[in-house]
Amino acid sequence: MSLQRFKLIFFVPKDSTQRVLSHLFSRYPEELGKIGNYDQAAFISRGTGQFRPLSGANPNIGKVGELEFVEEDRVELVVSDKGQREQIRDAVRELKNVHPYEEVATSLLGFLGLLSTLRAVSACADDHDHSIFGRADPSAPLTPPSRPLEWGDINIIHTTDTHGWLLGHQKKSFPEPNYSGDFGDFASFVSHMKKIAIERDVDLLLVDSGDLHDGTGLSDGFPPGGIDAHDSNQFLKRLPYDVMAIGNHELYVYANTLDMHENFAPSLRGRYLSSNANITVVNEQGQVVSVPVGSRFAKFTTRKGRKVTSLGVLFDFTGNDKNTTVQKVEDMIKEFADAIKDEPDFFLLVGHMPVARDKWPFVFNAIRAVHPTTPILILGGHTHIRDCLQLDGRSMSLESGRYMETIGWLSAKLDRKGSTKNITFSRRYLDPNRYHSNRTNLQFDTREGNDITRGLNDLAKRFDLSFQFGTAPHDFTITQAPYPSNNSLLSLFIENALPVALAINNTRSSIPSIMITNSGSQRFDLYAGPFTKNDQLTASPFADSFLFLPGVPFVSAKQVLPTLNNAGANERALSEKREEELYGRGYVDAVYRKWLEEMDMRNAGFERRAAGDLTLGYVTTDACPGIGDDTMHVPLPFHSIPDFIGSVPSAVSDDAPIDLVFVDFIETQLLQVLNTVQKTKTYTTADVQAYSPVLANQVLGIYAQQAWN
Ligand SMILES: [Zn+2]
Ligand SMILES: [Zn+2]
Repeated sequence: MSLQRFKLIFFVPKDSTQRVLSHLFSRYPEELGKIGNYDQAAFISRGTGQFRPLSGANPNIGKVGELEFVEEDRVELVVSDKGQREQIRDAVRELKNVHPYEEVATSLLGFLGLLSTLRAVSACADDHDHSIFGRADPSAPLTPPSRPLEWGDINIIHTTDTHGWLLGHQKKSFPEPNYSGDFGDFASFVSHMKKIAIERDVDLLLVDSGDLHDGTGLSDGFPPGGIDAHDSNQFLKRLPYDVMAIGNHELYVYANTLDMHENFAPSLRGRYLSSNANITVVNEQGQVVSVPVGSRFAKFTTRKGRKVTSLGVLFDFTGNDKNTTVQKVEDMIKEFADAIKDEPDFFLLVGHMPVARDKWPFVFNAIRAVHPTTPILILGGHTHIRDCLQLDGRSMSLESGRYMETIGWLSAKLDRKGSTKNITFSRRYLDPNRYHSNRTNLQFDTREGNDITRGLNDLAKRFDLSFQFGTAPHDFTITQAPYPSNNSLLSLFIENALPVALAINNTRSSIPSIMITNSGSQRFDLYAGPFTKNDQLTASPFADSFLFLPGVPFVSAKQVLPTLNNAGANERALSEKREEELYGRGYVDAVYRKWLEEMDMRNAGFERRAAGDLTLGYVTTDACPGIGDDTMHVPLPFHSIPDFIGSVPSAVSDDAPIDLVFVDFIETQLLQVLNTVQKTKTYTTADVQAYSPVLANQVLGIYAQQAWN
């Protein structure tokens, strides 16, 4: 490897110059300021620097809003790099650590010319934000991708089910570091990929399949009076999305749908698609009308002049709010004869609908009936899994995971119109971090990318998302640990946290009780380290309240949980019906968990984890040719969990009356079951009382404050 020399230039308050330099020289005596038989070489020139800290800044010198003048040194020194930019990266990182400023201005000159323009590097002295929201150190030991991406004539970058995860995954326990890129990094990545597409003279489209709402503090942690995801959605608008489709989470609350209709859809200029989802509004003439939330379909031309017809389809969702409508897929497609009549160069079907076991074939067949050979690219979503299949040789369907844990890549090599041969497709599931842009770390961040990262952190600060309840002693997961166990989030919630949180200001807390909730109430793993407001909203986001039935004989109460979990054959039939109904209302955790289990089994997870040569992450087997995962991992451990969980009953006699406590979400099922396990009394909603003012999404925070401080 050849040694390359660069010049690092930075600005530092004059009183700190020698401290910074001597630190850097002692740390890197060979790499920094070494020229022949001389070391500690630097050129220093003095001047006056000026800056004004903006709101959100945490300045070491000066006040927010006031222009500040500081006597500064411009320091130039030589960096000897072995050719992989590693020494440069180390030097800049060390400079960030020792430099007194929150933002450090550096530039790097190759001796043959300007290598990288002036750029800001974020370094915060107090470690407040960055420990929680800062981008993970790009030098964290992540497994690199296994191979380069395959490009075609049409290439698609796909996101889906982002659910507010725009600050990425910042916890240190694996698999989280795989997904450590934030939306600013993603913006930089997209911009580099767009340049590569131009160099290759091919088309590159950016597409999203919906569910922008509900999942993290950024979308849900807004102060009272705010609108779900309104603020976080502003960052999505800044990326050059070609097509976006509506998800079911955009339809649970009318005010959110209206916000999408009025304030989000217009920025996509006709390419925010809702082929079968409408909203009822009052039009300019004062009439009440039902209109598409975005647009029904879109026709456009790519940069390379290819004609595209695009639809945005939502699965048969039934949990939508009043004054919104979702038309069944098979009814919708009957009205699309005109839209699909003309033949484009390809169909781009984007939708919030899983690529397997759902209704894409209705849409596909309707198009194939008119256009037997036109390429059809399908980008689906909703079940949060990585999946791919081909409905025929001239089509591919891709689903790209969830929560910014996966970026989908789909490429197709087109042939002549009317050809009946199979098209060469490729698909890839990328872990969202900083690989694949053909840029070194130092060249990775674009100005817009940095600006988005900064804006997201400002929003997190405004919502006070780093408010810390306590420090989690270790990881608590939903399915990586058995239930019940010390490392199970479900055990933590039902056995430890719930009894503590519901006892507060509760005169009934001394009365023996059984507490029951659904396991779906826990939505995301809780990792070791600071447990913040953001983590609370992520792990247990539902604002459900707790109810109870007083004086239920223990002998009846103790049968409720096992019966809810399908002890009997009758219950199993009921449970299938219930699952179907829950699926319609948008509940997908069961599908996701089933997939995790399958991936663990198929890929010999136990043996491969024992071998210990790869990091934990997604391991995908799908129905498309070749391997889909971009980075090789071993699958996450999987343990199946029951649908319902309950606190361990106190030691009481069978005939003792106890309080049967449960979350309001399961009220109907619980009453139904209680009335089958005993016939002495018919319980109705009239017997149900409020148990505690504490809501489900406050339980872990209250517990952390007491137990983890
Ligand atoms: Zn989703
Ligand atoms: Zn969904």
